[in-house]
Amino acid sequence: MADEPLEKKEATEDETSSREDFAFQTEVNQVLQLLVHSLYTKREVFLRELVSNAADALSKVQFELLTQREVASREADLEILVDFNVDDRTITVSDTGVGMTRDELITSLGTIAHSGSKAFLDAIEARRKEAGEGAVLDLIGQFGVGFYSVFMVADRVVVESRSMEPDAPAHRWVATGGDSFSIEPAGRTLRGTTVTLHLKDDASEFLSRHRLEEIINTYSNFVPFPVKLQGNVVNRQKALWAVSKSEITEEMYTEFYGHLNHTTKAPLAHVHLQADVPIQFNAILYVPHESPLMQYYAIETRHGVRLYVKRMFIQENCEELVPRYLRFLVGVVDVDDLPLNVSREMIQKNPLLAKVRSNLTRKTLKLLQDIASRDPEKYATFWRQFGLYLKEGVRDDPASSDTIAELLRFNSSHHVDDKGLTSLAEYVERMPEGQEEIYYFTGPNRQTIERTPHLEQFRKKHYEVLYMTDPIDPLVVLGLGDYKGKKFRIIDDPKLDLGAGDTSDEGGDEPDIGKDFVSFAGKVLGDKVESVRLSRRLVESPACLVNPENSMSSDMQRLYSMVDRDFKFSRKILELNASHPIVRNLNAAFAGVVGDPSGQERLRPYVENLLDVALLAEGIHPNPADLVDDFNRLLAVATGTLTHGPDTSSVGEPALSPDEEAKPPDQGVDTSPATEDTAS
Ligand code: ADP
Ligand code: MG
Repeated sequence: MADEPLEKKEATEDETSSREDFAFQTEVNQVLQLLVHSLYTKREVFLRELVSNAADALSKVQFELLTQREVASREADLEILVDFNVDDRTITVSDTGVGMTRDELITSLGTIAHSGSKAFLDAIEARRKEAGEGAVLDLIGQFGVGFYSVFMVADRVVVESRSMEPDAPAHRWVATGGDSFSIEPAGRTLRGTTVTLHLKDDASEFLSRHRLEEIINTYSNFVPFPVKLQGNVVNRQKALWAVSKSEITEEMYTEFYGHLNHTTKAPLAHVHLQADVPIQFNAILYVPHESPLMQYYAIETRHGVRLYVKRMFIQENCEELVPRYLRFLVGVVDVDDLPLNVSREMIQKNPLLAKVRSNLTRKTLKLLQDIASRDPEKYATFWRQFGLYLKEGVRDDPASSDTIAELLRFNSSHHVDDKGLTSLAEYVERMPEGQEEIYYFTGPNRQTIERTPHLEQFRKKHYEVLYMTDPIDPLVVLGLGDYKGKKFRIIDDPKLDLGAGDTSDEGGDEPDIGKDFVSFAGKVLGDKVESVRLSRRLVESPACLVNPENSMSSDMQRLYSMVDRDFKFSRKILELNASHPIVRNLNAAFAGVVGDPSGQERLRPYVENLLDVALLAEGIHPNPADLVDDFNRLLAVATGTLTHGPDTSSVGEPALSPDEEAKPPDQGVDTSPATEDTAS
């Protein structure tokens, strides 16, 4: 036990003088801050992290031992020893794994290698505030900074390590939870690592055989090497994937998941495959309880799916085993028919693994389909966490896109708020007679989409519209093309004509908007629009924008605008609603100023305003702030009419009702009394 007096005795004059101090990297300090000063209830996970590191180190050396290369302490047993000493108040965890050289000690236990770790740690901090401390401990293990969890229970940590490299001398790493650590030579000759924790005063509970055994059983049962507590093996060590399914309880699956994913939570689902023909392999794949934050931050996680060959660990995070869009899966795949000394290149090109991969893909999609049909609520939970990944699959895995199509979920006009989800099958089921296509619209969120005037004719027809709010959605639609023969159609498609805005068959009092006014509006707007025309699609709004035929669809344009700052939206056609009071008033006003250029000039701001509001409704107004002046000017005119009372019938003046003018631009006109008038 490396307590104070012993350490001084061991250190020769020479060694003491060669002690060097190092500052922890900023990110490590941040992790330490999170751990040292917080009151975690699950501090016991420090042991899970130490045992997990020891097991990783053993797996790596086990792999090296298969090769012919020279490895220190070739004969040493591959095991993990856990010990404690009540008098010294220490716990030690030793392994005979790969060990660390001096440089490895400095980088592995003094820095965080991941890029983007600062952003990630900030996110952890935010998460701590909202989801509590437990969430942090899981994340820290998954992120690959589990080692530092020792500082929850210890105020002095000593790591002695001797690398497997034949000539590497041993070193001792010492830290006290401050912002620095020291390194000095050590006397150890046996390959591997010993971590000694000097426990804090409030951590005495861990100086108990019973307690340590309990912790190992909870978190480390499936570590594939013997974990010995004071000389006795206390873990199960079994390769769960090779055990017959009938002998495995749900608890065991959950426990194994916890071991793989450094968590205390249960997974959402799992599938256990034991295949004999044509390829012999065993696999357990888990759908995690939540999407790993680091994938969100585009930081690679170390876990994912691990490759084993005949029970021997070969590779972490093996990308060849599941397609990229299923990278959220966590699990183990053990292939019998591969040679033990498989190389990286061989893994990449192996046709056997390609077969395993397509099998795993099929089984995973089937598992998800089963959840979707048996337990829609659980599936909704899955979808909110991992839906984005599946959408990638539509694009990346065309062969599976029919299957994936059944797994997709969207919010739609059928739902009362943005929480609802519908499948394409349900959508089609609800289609009323006469509807032939699947309608959708894209936008940043439901609120914005609901503002588009293009929805009006669909509301009137009771046609459901899918609300697509993920940036990737236009690509999903493009990838699918259709669903069961029903084409996807964006609702502002210029070719679309449901005839909902056509009032000619509803009593015949269609207001007569002159061609002259329409061409006047076109002249006023000039090259700000492609053209101006009367609309057959509007019900409530005065105007809307549509793309010229043969231009790129609006969802693709929005997608381009997101990836390319300089992207220019194509010029649009402004469509006018002939039944709307603004349009009617303007038309009437225009009739009074034919041949009167200065009278026409007074109408200009109102026509321009129609375009501005239409641009706002689409969320593509290039400069919304410019509108403030325009609105103030219009309001000045409108409020001027208040003193002599509104007179909507007068012609020759820009006779807009105050109701129309006094409203902010984004509120539509549905509450306006003027609109109710026209509807009657
Ligand atoms: P992770 O295990 O996810 O990489 P940790 O913070 O637990 O993150 O450990 C950091 C690194 O320290 C490990 O990746 C490994 O390189 C090194 N390490 C920790 N413990 C040991 C050990 N017992 N033997 C060899 N290397 C170790
Ligand atoms: Mg670790």
